[in-house]
Amino acid sequence: MARAAVPGGLKVRRGWRPAHVLERRPETKSASTLALEVPGWPGHLAGQHIDVRLTADDGYQAARSYSLAAPAAGDRIEITVQEVPDGEVSGYLVEDASSGDTVEVRGPVGGWFVWKPEDSRPVLLVGGGSGVVPLMAMIRSRDGASPTPFRLLYSVRTPEDRIYDPELERRATQDSGLDITFLYTRTAPAGETRPAGRITAKDLVTYGSPADLEPNCYVCGPTPFVETVADLLIDLGHNPTRIRTERFGPTGP
Ligand SMILES: Cc1cc2nc3c(=O)[nH]c(=O)nc-3n(C[C@H](O)[C@H](O)[C@H](O)COP(=O)(O)OP(=O)(O)OC[C@H]3O[C@@H](n4cnc5c(N)ncnc54)[C@H](O)[C@@H]3O)c2cc1C
Repeated sequence: MARAAVPGGLKVRRGWRPAHVLERRPETKSASTLALEVPGWPGHLAGQHIDVRLTADDGYQAARSYSLAAPAAGDRIEITVQEVPDGEVSGYLVEDASSGDTVEVRGPVGGWFVWKPEDSRPVLLVGGGSGVVPLMAMIRSRDGASPTPFRLLYSVRTPEDRIYDPELERRATQDSGLDITFLYTRTAPAGETRPAGRITAKDLVTYGSPADLEPNCYVCGPTPFVETVADLLIDLGHNPTRIRTERFGPTGP
């Protein structure tokens, strides 16, 4: 099977391989985490993604990209999928996939939108919706590493849409140097001082990291969200070379 080197010394395998569904855990009403067993999994970096391919009984195939949500545990990997209305692949993964099913995966993919535990520079994570998935992988990869300051701004419609709740709540109080802010776009919980609305420059100033701290910025989510945030960060003086983006636009043919 062909291999190619990626930064960090890990290898990318280019072929498809079987992945057995071990578990499906609901995260919200419309998002689930899938644990997959991929025999011979080579390991991956936080921020990388895989391609998942489904094959119907009549041979029809559909493939989509999904970020890896956590560090690998041997051959076990995790993805978290937000259902897209009428989506061909996400609906099956969120609602129907069950232990014993087999899909195919390819990867890990990506060498730029990655964080490595040896990176000691402060980190600013900005996620919109399911864009929190690779950012959570970075937060989880930070466990046991030197406590690099991490700041997460997580833009989400309502409190019920928060993926990884209550793990994020727990980490917000227990993980040294990790600061988490939820930015609600539609409905804020009672007592929230920030009115519901889309992310603004003021949010990045109030809850983000100042540009003179020179953080590495990771921005992930729907394409318009990512472009807005990247532009705001540049306007606020962040060095464009320190802004890494991942767009969760439609994938597949
Ligand atoms: C690098 C990368 C990583 C990704 N990681 C994740 C992840 O970790 N979790 C996750 O839930 N998704 C992730 N995505 C999005 C994912 O690949 C699919 O696009 C998404 O699951 C929809 O696929 P579908 O087959 O259900 O919808 P489709 O059948 O492809 O599309 C149905 C309808 O929804 C629209 N649509 C498709 N995708 C999106 C989208 N992302 N946002 C809004 N509208 C859309 C289409 O234009 C179409 O009208 C990632 C995308 C990329 C490029």
